[in-house]
Amino acid sequence: MQRFTQKKFLYPILTFVITVLVTTYAVHFVYKTQFDHTVSMVNKLAEQQSENLQKVVESDLHFIGAGANFYHSTERDNWSRFPVFAEELVSKSETLIALQWMQKVESSDIAEHTAKMRRTFPHFEPYTIPKDGPKTSGYIMADNQPIFVASDIFPRSEANLGLLGFYSSRLRFQLILDGLMAMGEPNVSDKVRLLQDGLDQSLKKTGMLVYHPVFDIENKQELIGVVVGVIRTTRYFEGLVKRTATEQDLLIKVIDMGFDAEDDPVLYQSEGWDSSAGIEITKRVVLPNREWLVDFKLVDSVTENERFVLTWIALAGGVIAALLSYIVLLLVREKEHLAFLLDERTQELQFMVEHDSLTGLYNRRAFNRFLSDLVEREQNFALVVFDIDKFKSINDYFGHVAGDDMLIFVANTVQAQLDESDVFVRMGGDEFCIITRKIDRDELFTYLNNVCRVMASSVHELGNHKIRCTLSIGAAVRMLESEEEILRTADAQLYKSKQAGRNCVTVAD
Ligand code: GH3
Ligand code: MG
Repeated sequence: MQRFTQKKFLYPILTFVITVLVTTYAVHFVYKTQFDHTVSMVNKLAEQQSENLQKVVESDLHFIGAGANFYHSTERDNWSRFPVFAEELVSKSETLIALQWMQKVESSDIAEHTAKMRRTFPHFEPYTIPKDGPKTSGYIMADNQPIFVASDIFPRSEANLGLLGFYSSRLRFQLILDGLMAMGEPNVSDKVRLLQDGLDQSLKKTGMLVYHPVFDIENKQELIGVVVGVIRTTRYFEGLVKRTATEQDLLIKVIDMGFDAEDDPVLYQSEGWDSSAGIEITKRVVLPNREWLVDFKLVDSVTENERFVLTWIALAGGVIAALLSYIVLLLVREKEHLAFLLDERTQELQFMVEHDSLTGLYNRRAFNRFLSDLVEREQNFALVVFDIDKFKSINDYFGHVAGDDMLIFVANTVQAQLDESDVFVRMGGDEFCIITRKIDRDELFTYLNNVCRVMASSVHELGNHKIRCTLSIGAAVRMLESEEEILRTADAQLYKSKQAGRNCVTVAD
């Protein structure tokens, strides 16, 4: 039974655990599928966004290139028509906020150039802003180097007009010029603070400059100036999509990987970028001399809807696990009950095989086993055989049921007088046997005589009737005899008792 009681809980618990495991796997699988789908969706979106960004930047570079081409292919006398030409370009772009003409002027030509410029712009005065210094008017370059002076600008807003006369005296500009000469390609700057916004150093760097070389139409090696495109970079990134199609927040960070950007490479960063974790996807935007890394970060990889589905799968799995384990518990309990019944019936059957159903005493089958066992082991014992006297008349007078009752009464009365070690057997009908360890003939005789006397004096009350009966007893002590011999000898003694008038004991000599 202990084994069953343990299993009673083992199987339901196992069922519960397995169902919970299967549910966990299902939740994980659905989550993984949703996650993969989200990643591929975000990846597609990121791809699209960075491609768009690349196109917008390329279109600006193209406009700036067109501006450079104007100076390359137009006669100097017609350069004053630049604003008409530039208007068309600048109006087409949201991000290109100005086109600026930086004309190369030799140090010896500065006075002449200034005079010429003042005809259109009366306040024109060459100036520069040295590194870590204030705005300084006039020519300050060493070695009679030519300067690249802002000589026209579009749009001619007040802020932009303030730039006329500006030339760069910094080493960095010289390096850019060297690069332009060598490559013949435009140069894109890192993040800069636009002069259009003012000279205050605390202003944010929200722009970039694209330097486009202009070579002389005849002497293609000679640089005659540079067209600078002023771009408000922040507008590029403000245009990027900040939400996915499923309304999940998308954070964006753009990093400039190019020359001179190391100290402050972040061009743009969504609010909360540093404090959030999530799926990150990186794309690249390639510019002529630098590269931008565009990082996309999806903070919530699972949408509300998906979380709802996952929660319900988990809950349903939990309920199914509980129900299944309850069903298994019921099945195990039922099986345990059946096993108990079967056990009980088996024990009953085993009892019936060797016992008499009426009196509960051993039957002839058990008797044969005991007897052969004792003989085989060469044990000494006494075999007693007795039979109820005139039992037929009890049956005839009181009926068969009363006869059965009397048989039980006799069995109980005799049993009460026997030693515990004695084997008491109903051989059939009204005939009984006793196998006893009492092998002393006199002691045996006294022992059986007591049984005989007690039976004769016992009264069985059956309804209004008082019934008595006597026994005829025969016995033999077994020394070396076989089973048949000892049985025959004991039977012969019983016969002698009957012959002697019944209600007596005969023990073989
Ligand atoms: P005797 O003194 O010679 O033994 O006379 P008796 O009438 O007892 O004769 P015998 O032992 O030959 O008869 C046995 C009778 O016991 C025969 C049968 O009617 C009756 N009997 C046998 N088995 C059962 C039983 O299981 N129940 C009942 N009620 N009677 C049985
Ligand atoms: Mg009899």
